[in-house]
Amino acid sequence: MTNQLDRLAIHTITTKPWSTEECISKYAAAGVRGITFWRYNFENCKPATVGRQARDAGLDVTSVARGGFFPAESPRLRQEAIEENLRAIDETAAVGAPSLVLVCGAYPGQSLQDSRLQIRDGISAILHHAAQAGVILAVEPLHPMYAESRSAINNMDQANQLCESLDNHPNIGIACDVYHTWWDPSLEVEINRAAASGNLTAYHICDWITPTSDLLNDRALMGEGCIELGKLSSTITSAGFKGYHEVEIFSSRWWGSDQDDYLNAIIQSFNAL
Ligand code: ZN
Repeated sequence: MTNQLDRLAIHTITTKPWSTEECISKYAAAGVRGITFWRYNFENCKPATVGRQARDAGLDVTSVARGGFFPAESPRLRQEAIEENLRAIDETAAVGAPSLVLVCGAYPGQSLQDSRLQIRDGISAILHHAAQAGVILAVEPLHPMYAESRSAINNMDQANQLCESLDNHPNIGIACDVYHTWWDPSLEVEINRAAASGNLTAYHICDWITPTSDLLNDRALMGEGCIELGKLSSTITSAGFKGYHEVEIFSSRWWGSDQDDYLNAIIQSFNAL
């Protein structure tokens, strides 16, 4: 019998009050199998060292969050974004993660169409470096409430179009996050479209609660809200996705709670799915 937790990974931002070392040791002790690092985890410790610590504890390094934010006001700023993404790719390779999540960006006051063109140009400019580093760039569509400032890629259809416009390059993929995509009536079709092209590379889970008190930091634990996670996880699995189910919860409410109890609650809710 396979253990449910074999598919469970957690993003370190989920337990933001914990240090990198605490995340590694506590996730491993709880039976979690994968860990996704955020770039802030590399501020005080080299990514190669962090990656070794995770593997020594028995964890797979699932991915790194995050690159992206390509659209900008001027060519100089767009070039700076490209250079920042090249550094993020190097950190991803150094920590030993197969993929870098891209929050693609948008520039307020500029049309979404222009932002999408700049996103495509930005990814094109870093794709060769990603291929050389053996890193997949996982485009994460963001909920439309972030369209003006955080990402002009707002559903799975747009993410699929973006991958297709880059000829489904083997180093491009899609991170399907339920928080951003659950509302989409075409979600199942688009998940299958991404999987058929080999582009479904990451799956992020949490839940959506009403009222949402903060657009960034009020995500919910699986089971607390309205997302049909059991059904979605079946869709993902049926599409052929074999990767980790990555818990990614930005929540001031949960960050203010006892993190050991919270980790237990994450595992219980994951097992209940
Ligand atoms: Zn995500």
